[in-house]
Amino acid sequence: MMRQYELVEKVLAYDPQADEQLLNKAYIYGYKKHGTQKRASGDPYFSHPIEVAAILAELKLDSTVVATGLLHDTIEDTDATREEIDQLFGEEIGSLVEGLTKISQLNLISREVAQSENLRKLFFAISKDIRVLLVKLADRMHNMRTIMHVKPEKRQRIAQETMDFYAPLAGRMGIHFFREELEDICFQVLNHEARDTILNRLQEMHEDEKDLLDDIAEILNKKLKQAGIVARVYGREKRPYSIFRKMERQSISLEKISDIFAFRIITHSEDDCYRALGLVHTEWPMVPERFKDFISIPKSNDYRSIHTTIIGPTRKRIELQIRTEEMQEVNEFGIASHALYKEDVYINNPKNSSIPGKDAHKKSRSGSVPVSEESSAFKWLRHVIESLEDGDTPAEFLENTKLELFADQAFCFTPNGRLIALPKHATPIDFAYAVHTDIGNTCVGCKINGVTSPLRSKLDNGDEVEIVTSKGSKPQAIWESFVTTGKAKSAIRRANKEERQKQYSHLGREMLNRIFKKLKLKFTEDKLTAALPKIAYKSLDDVFVAIARSEIKLKDVAKAMVPMLLERNDIEFMHDQTHFEIGASNKTTPMPIRGVSKDIGAIRFSKKHPPIAGERIVGILRPAEGLVVYPIHSEELEAFEDNPELWIDLVWDLEGREKQWFTAPIEITLLNEVGALAQITNMIAEQGCNIWNSYIVAKEVDFHHLYMEIEVRDIHHFNLVKNSLKTLPIINDIKRVAGKKFGEISI
Ligand code: MN
Repeated sequence: MMRQYELVEKVLAYDPQADEQLLNKAYIYGYKKHGTQKRASGDPYFSHPIEVAAILAELKLDSTVVATGLLHDTIEDTDATREEIDQLFGEEIGSLVEGLTKISQLNLISREVAQSENLRKLFFAISKDIRVLLVKLADRMHNMRTIMHVKPEKRQRIAQETMDFYAPLAGRMGIHFFREELEDICFQVLNHEARDTILNRLQEMHEDEKDLLDDIAEILNKKLKQAGIVARVYGREKRPYSIFRKMERQSISLEKISDIFAFRIITHSEDDCYRALGLVHTEWPMVPERFKDFISIPKSNDYRSIHTTIIGPTRKRIELQIRTEEMQEVNEFGIASHALYKEDVYINNPKNSSIPGKDAHKKSRSGSVPVSEESSAFKWLRHVIESLEDGDTPAEFLENTKLELFADQAFCFTPNGRLIALPKHATPIDFAYAVHTDIGNTCVGCKINGVTSPLRSKLDNGDEVEIVTSKGSKPQAIWESFVTTGKAKSAIRRANKEERQKQYSHLGREMLNRIFKKLKLKFTEDKLTAALPKIAYKSLDDVFVAIARSEIKLKDVAKAMVPMLLERNDIEFMHDQTHFEIGASNKTTPMPIRGVSKDIGAIRFSKKHPPIAGERIVGILRPAEGLVVYPIHSEELEAFEDNPELWIDLVWDLEGREKQWFTAPIEITLLNEVGALAQITNMIAEQGCNIWNSYIVAKEVDFHHLYMEIEVRDIHHFNLVKNSLKTLPIINDIKRVAGKKFGEISI
């Protein structure tokens, strides 16, 4: 346990003005209040707030934040009250501790609605004072560092929540020092087999390359010294989880990742960065397409550095990152480093929100290293909070926020040079909406780098995008299926409400027609018009929409239209005929989907591209077959692009249902090696997954192509299986493919 004086000294070391008395008072108060409470590890409870304070001191935060760390659990876990904290430590700390108490019990892995409600509360607390987030993240960090003392089931849940929300949030705030460590601990809890495999292979690679790396470090140090550049050089290895993610993102094997190991050159001035770069490029040839200057164009999370890859001795590619000490601090600590310019960040406007405005950090401590005009971390946070106030439904808010938490970035430009930061794989439509909602709404075409391109193209870093607009034109419903930003999505959704009504109306009419056919009766609009007063609807359209949205039961409408149906009991069983068979379970289970009435009759998954629970889905109304459900990435959807009226928005509805299995057809490219198949089946079995069907599609000299149908619980489970398989050295590639017919040569 860190002692009182050690903590104070740690803070004084970076902030000689620190309020020593405040820190001592908070330490003693917390110590007394937590008394004999114990943690799951058996340690005294107070060791936890001390460690949280120490982590905040690691980020070089001021004494107010460090003291809040010491006190963060007092209102929650002891008899301390807000009033008492206010009296002893002032209202500022009182409100911070209260903010933390409010969010301490938020469960972010729960039913969808509760989850988005909790996420809203979290963002709301953060929006009041960004320091709440810093303490919360430090709190989570220490809880994760000691997670092994927690019971396995709870451990899994906390790790999943951290992986899904807190780690990406830390990353979004630019606090990579937190993000990386949190991810790595979660990875260990959630998938230790894959992590171990990666660690073992890293160690092997290391042993092979040790001499080479030492040589390069020595040459670098010597050259820098000769040129009179003061700098430190050190090697840095990617964390297992970053490697895992990269393998997943780019579908490549570990050997093909070129930047597992990088050298960092940390200088004292921007000038020296470019001088060091010159030295490096004179000594070794560089790989042109790998050169990136994030000093002149910082990343959207304010990351600044020069990246270059050189071809070193033995033709080995080596990545180098060149930056100043100050950039290094911003890169690792993100908004926590902005918080250092406290008069700009929050003391400026103590009454208002602590998220700073445009002038937030024109100044910096050294005066020479301005971070980007407005920190995009804050920009993002403000944007999230805006959408929170925008009245998106909880489900929409959750989806949009999650989307943006996880997205990587691409930087594009308007023709007059304005930088627009977008998630990777954003489309020109996202770009248009990012520039202005009106431009998005009236956009009809685009030019990428001067070439006329489709609106669904994926944008790359550095693209110049010119949007062609046409007055009076409206966004198309189908755009929503391929845009990636929350902003574009909700704008399209809003503009399409009318269009959507039409879809629902169409669907409702279809459903009513169907049930009449089944009952061997004739549907006429006159009958429905006559029945309107009975069911209390104003127009036919209103009834159709209500049917499609399950607001009124189909059979009740039918009964109101044809009174003699009241005598027939076959209608009572109608809705039971829509049950659906899934996977190998052979049990009939209702379709776990919301968004359409269950009375619709035929509703089925696409056989070619069966969707997996949790991934985005749409339904296409196919006149002959009913409603067919596709994953949003299915190529089959392209055939319906010109018929937006057939597209129905669907949402999974898995809550409270028995777990189901979903079939995923995949194709694995594997090395032609003895025992390869056994390794694959073992790894799949280890992840709790069934193999339903498998056979070799094609054989080459070195590689086999294996088709498999595996059964998974949901898309998370699928990704877990896929990524675990990728850690196997024998596997070259895995992709989801169209389902083939069963019964071909099985092995
Ligand atoms: Mn705590």
